[in-house]
Amino acid sequence: MIVIMKPGAAQSSIDSIVSYIEANGLAVHLSRGESVTIIGAVGDKSKLSTENLLVYSEVDRIVPVTESYKLANKKFHPKPTTIKVGNTEIGPNNLTIMAGPCAVETEEQLMSIARAVKASGATILRGGAYKPRTSPYSFQGLEAVGLQYMQEAAKETGLATICEVVSLEAIEEAVKYVDMIQIGARNMQNFILLKEAGRSGLPVLLKRGLCATVDEWLNAAEYIMSEGNPNVVLCERGIRTYETSTRNTLDLSVVPVMRERTHLPIIVDPSHSTGAYKYVPAMAKAGVACGADGLMIEVHNDPAHALSDGPQSLTFEHFDALTKELRPFCELVGRKF
Ligand code: PEP
Ligand code: MN
Repeated sequence: MIVIMKPGAAQSSIDSIVSYIEANGLAVHLSRGESVTIIGAVGDKSKLSTENLLVYSEVDRIVPVTESYKLANKKFHPKPTTIKVGNTEIGPNNLTIMAGPCAVETEEQLMSIARAVKASGATILRGGAYKPRTSPYSFQGLEAVGLQYMQEAAKETGLATICEVVSLEAIEEAVKYVDMIQIGARNMQNFILLKEAGRSGLPVLLKRGLCATVDEWLNAAEYIMSEGNPNVVLCERGIRTYETSTRNTLDLSVVPVMRERTHLPIIVDPSHSTGAYKYVPAMAKAGVACGADGLMIEVHNDPAHALSDGPQSLTFEHFDALTKELRPFCELVGRKF
């Protein structure tokens, strides 16, 4: 439930209510607006008498939060959240582009891609060191060595970095080298991994599962947040439908749906959703137009010889052209890029 205070409520009243809720064994999450403070209570609400809370004269009203996700819920935190990643941020003011290869292959490959995507306007370098491939015979990633190359590329370019993690061991390694970790679509409901990501101390990009509903996705975010990590960014990367002309079906309508339900930022991945480089520019622009806070785009120095996801990877030239085309879209929606 949430307790909505009257505008300008005194700090002493807020403190008393916080103590009352905590004394009843529930956890408190405060959200301060310009004049209104919202006090969220998470836990077994049967322990708490809401009538008693109404005795406080500066309480305006009490609203039950019926959804099972609380910390991710917009009712708990009406203002959009901005999340800092390295020197950059993801939130309502900017368009943040994460770009890079599907998989880190060699140091030279990663370095050349990092320089190119930075020159075109990306602020976060993506690169997979642990690859959750559909076939066990496909390239599985360079693991810790790949993470070291990511760190080298960050040092040289100043880009922030993100890498997918697929196991508890991978999280333990990744926290030493990158600025953000990614939970991929196939692991969206790997609850043990989500909890460990919540304890990692790094911001987490949570991709939507291939068949996940909005509720399941937000509950996955709640797993991370309930471990004390508020820094979760959602990523729509396409869902599985009956349609086979694209790799997945990009569900852009989920962006405005999420705006209604959560304060967390959401980005769009036009690469994994379409699976084909020629469709990426149109869907990247559509992502910006429908209000995404950022994009994740796969870029490769030599897509024809990429060890993973070559067909959907943009060349440096294509990526540069796309970022130029994105600028007027950003202006229209009032985002800096
Ligand atoms: C990736 O980002 O390289 C990836 C494997 O993404 P997804 O989990 O969306 O398939
Ligand atoms: Mn990929």
